[in-house]
Amino acid sequence: MAVALGLMAAAPPSADLIVVNGKVYTADASHKMVSALAVRGNRIVATGTDKEIEKLQGAKTRVINAQGHSVLPGFIDSHVHMLAGAEGLEGPNLSGVRNAAQLQKVVGEFIAAHPELTWIRGGGFYADFTRHDLDPVTGDKPVLLMAGDGHSMLANTKAMKLAGITKDTPSPAGGEIAHDPVTGEPTGVFLETAQSLVQRALPVQTTADLERMVREATDEAHKAGVTTIVNVGHPPELAIYDGMRRRGELKLRIHNALWLTPGSPTEFRPGLGFPDVFTFSEQDADVFEGIRRTYPDNELMTVNMVKIMMDGVIESHTAAMLKPYADEPGVGETNYTPAELNRAISMMDRRGWQIMTHALGDRAVRMALDGYQVAETANPAPARGRRHKIEHMESVDPADIPRFAALGVIASFQTAHAGGMNDPQHRGQRWRYLGYERSAWGFPWKSIKDAGGRLALGSDWPVVSLNPGYAMSVALNRLENKPIPDQKLTLTEILDGYTRDGAYTIFEDKRLGSLEVGKLADVVILADDIFAKPPSSGADLVVDQTIFDGQVVYRRDGVADRK
Ligand SMILES: [Zn+2]
Ligand SMILES: [Zn+2]
Repeated sequence: MAVALGLMAAAPPSADLIVVNGKVYTADASHKMVSALAVRGNRIVATGTDKEIEKLQGAKTRVINAQGHSVLPGFIDSHVHMLAGAEGLEGPNLSGVRNAAQLQKVVGEFIAAHPELTWIRGGGFYADFTRHDLDPVTGDKPVLLMAGDGHSMLANTKAMKLAGITKDTPSPAGGEIAHDPVTGEPTGVFLETAQSLVQRALPVQTTADLERMVREATDEAHKAGVTTIVNVGHPPELAIYDGMRRRGELKLRIHNALWLTPGSPTEFRPGLGFPDVFTFSEQDADVFEGIRRTYPDNELMTVNMVKIMMDGVIESHTAAMLKPYADEPGVGETNYTPAELNRAISMMDRRGWQIMTHALGDRAVRMALDGYQVAETANPAPARGRRHKIEHMESVDPADIPRFAALGVIASFQTAHAGGMNDPQHRGQRWRYLGYERSAWGFPWKSIKDAGGRLALGSDWPVVSLNPGYAMSVALNRLENKPIPDQKLTLTEILDGYTRDGAYTIFEDKRLGSLEVGKLADVVILADDIFAKPPSSGADLVVDQTIFDGQVVYRRDGVADRK
């Protein structure tokens, strides 16, 4: 009897799911590789050799043979615009569109195939169009399309009419209604904050619409191996995620960052673009506190971050530079003065918010670092510490590179945005704007990391694809620009940016980011061994299966558990 009891105590309960025969990159502190792991409920309960893990196989255990492919922690995408991405999924696919004929073909066919839609929305094109390019194929349907970089929208004449835009409509602060230089008529192009003028005419999306969009975006994420996102959005989205969370329907971990926008933040409707005025008061912050209390944090959803928009982009000379552009006298504007920025950062830091600052030019980056430094000096350290972030960093003064580690500021890069740095022709363009040396100091991820800083990696979807394949290839194959230090990242450094370091940057390193006992079971199984064949081209990373919270949520067609 005593012997039998001893045996029973020694036999561990079986696992719900095991993955064997994998090249499992655990992303633990020692970057250990194993071949198998076991999941019970939504947690990882063991990692080790196939033999060790197979001991946990019971009659009901699901067994996944990874066939020697890479098994990784589910990817954490540190910069996503969830609903904007979902909108793109529902509209015409404009990613390959380069000229008016192609635009008309894609949009015309989409309208014909979707007679039920009252508005046509979409985006992702990289070309200069006017409403006259759209009108011939859109009939009486209003059409509103977001440019691939998110900085402008294209409306057809019908959409403009519904929005009440005329020749005399004034451009708002921080934006522009583009006009034909000859006729003075609006061209249908709405830049930056002017986007909201035409977005106001859109029908309000119902809860059912928004939930459908969240499901579609979630499917897209799972297909890319992404199980956690930092979502930059607006307060009304939160009720949708929260409702799905309560009903057990939220299959993506969503860490929300709210735009630090003026006035009553709850006025913003999902999908709306940039704010009209760049101030943020204590009263606005109180509203944010109320929102944060309404949606308590758990492992599926948090509301803890704000995003500050500092400047524009280099290509339009709107990124804020320390010295004038090489081809123009201006230095670019910031949306805040240093005093306003420091006040906003210190206020939100004191209230315990994590801050992410969009900063492309070297002056914007320096102002953000200064702002974080001021907050650190002014406010007592929060109990959980500070993990403020800077986003994009397309140009950084080398003097500021050590400050990331010194201040504990996280450098959040979307490496696909640097694709042009690897393209000799596009690189030449950047040199024209910034000069060789400043251009070469763009996206200095390796220097920041080597100086002890931490990287968070992501996509900025829908600006680029949620799939990290291309983004990884850009960082792996970064061209050298002597005498600036080589900025190539190793595959391990890149994977850490999507896993363990990504988890750290959202205060989730205890629950996520590595395949270790006790962590949440978010796992991606690739269709290949990524260490043997690192992403080298623009091709997508192919995912065989994605496991979220212990459940298989995506399986590529033709993939079986066992062979
Ligand atoms: Zn941004
Ligand atoms: Zn963004």
